Amino acid sequence: MLRFLAPLLALLLCLPAHADSYITRLLDKPVPGGVAVVDLGNGAQAPTARYQGRSVLVVKEQNSRWLAIVGVPLTVKPGTQQLAIKDASGNRTQAFTVGSKKYPEQRITLKNKRQVNPDPADLKRIEGELAEQIAAYRTFTPATPSNLLLDKPVNGPLSSKFGVRRFFNGEERNPHAGLDFAVPAGTPIKSPAAGKVILTGNYFFNGNTVFVDHGQGFISMFCHMSKIDVKVGDAVPRGGVVGKVGATGRATGPHMHWNISLNDARVDPAIFIGAFQP
Ligand code: ZN
Repeated sequence: MLRFLAPLLALLLCLPAHADSYITRLLDKPVPGGVAVVDLGNGAQAPTARYQGRSVLVVKEQNSRWLAIVGVPLTVKPGTQQLAIKDASGNRTQAFTVGSKKYPEQRITLKNKRQVNPDPADLKRIEGELAEQIAAYRTFTPATPSNLLLDKPVNGPLSSKFGVRRFFNGEERNPHAGLDFAVPAGTPIKSPAAGKVILTGNYFFNGNTVFVDHGQGFISMFCHMSKIDVKVGDAVPRGGVVGKVGATGRATGPHMHWNISLNDARVDPAIFIGAFQP
């Protein structure tokens, strides 16, 4: 009997007094383009949190602690960041630390030069489309997301990773704001959590695009689709099909591009499917 108890006892003694929550262990990747999980205490009422002026997702852990799930923009420099908290005892700030992460570079050749240097008419179109999409990312609804650990929208190998610095025909453009899956055209794209369709469109760079609001600023965006199967206002269940994989917009071939946004910061979707690499 002792033979079994001794290792068990040793294991128990190794556990820290205040073990990190399940959510913290899985999602806390506080780097630029990552997620910071900040413990806001165990008050009776839900606190609110703001970061860089934007409302932040707050959830309750099983052990009754409130956790802020903060999206850290790629542009944030490593160091101390502040959250503005409001709870039953008033207003306070709470610090969290952002570490560093190095992202690789990728060089892409496009035959369509307008997709690298758009003409003036294109630029006007792009500006309007950008404003529309930013407004969607800034949506903040009170619903708590159905799940924070997400299902993959398609089954297939990951191709281009999040955060890659991209050079199109030798010219640097925005870093890769999402995660690509190498899957054939026509593959159904499934919503990784329940949500509501808040925007659809056909955009210059993103092609056929769908935005799904999972609640409290936690938003999925899918683009380059061949077909959109939903419309604005539709409620989508977890696993509900929103459209089909394609190569519309600035794409070199069919693939599924997926963005995840928290508090209007695009973060690495790999974190939410257990595929994050430091
Ligand atoms: Zn992509």
